[in-house]
Amino acid sequence: MKPFEKCPVCGGELEDKQVEKLIRGGGNTVSIKVAAEVCLHCGERLYTEDVVESFEEIRANLRKHEFSHFRALGQSFTVDENWPNKAIQPTG
Ligand SMILES: [Zn+2]
Repeated sequence: MKPFEKCPVCGGELEDKQVEKLIRGGGNTVSIKVAAEVCLHCGERLYTEDVVESFEEIRANLRKHEFSHFRALGQSFTVDENWPNKAIQPTG
């Protein structure tokens, strides 16, 4: 049973997809692939309730620096204060 038949934002058709999502917490980032329904018209992503709860759990673990279910994947960077285009600013 799908939680939505149509996009709640624009009424567009939804398609089951695997999407990439970044979750941030405590200055760290987790990158995952997750099942979502994606609106073919506006790109809105809809997740099931248990998936949204998992996002919150991941975010809470990041804030607590509890990394036992995570593994390292590359490094994350932000720009430094000398980046020439001032429209681009560091995140933390
Ligand atoms: Zn839509």
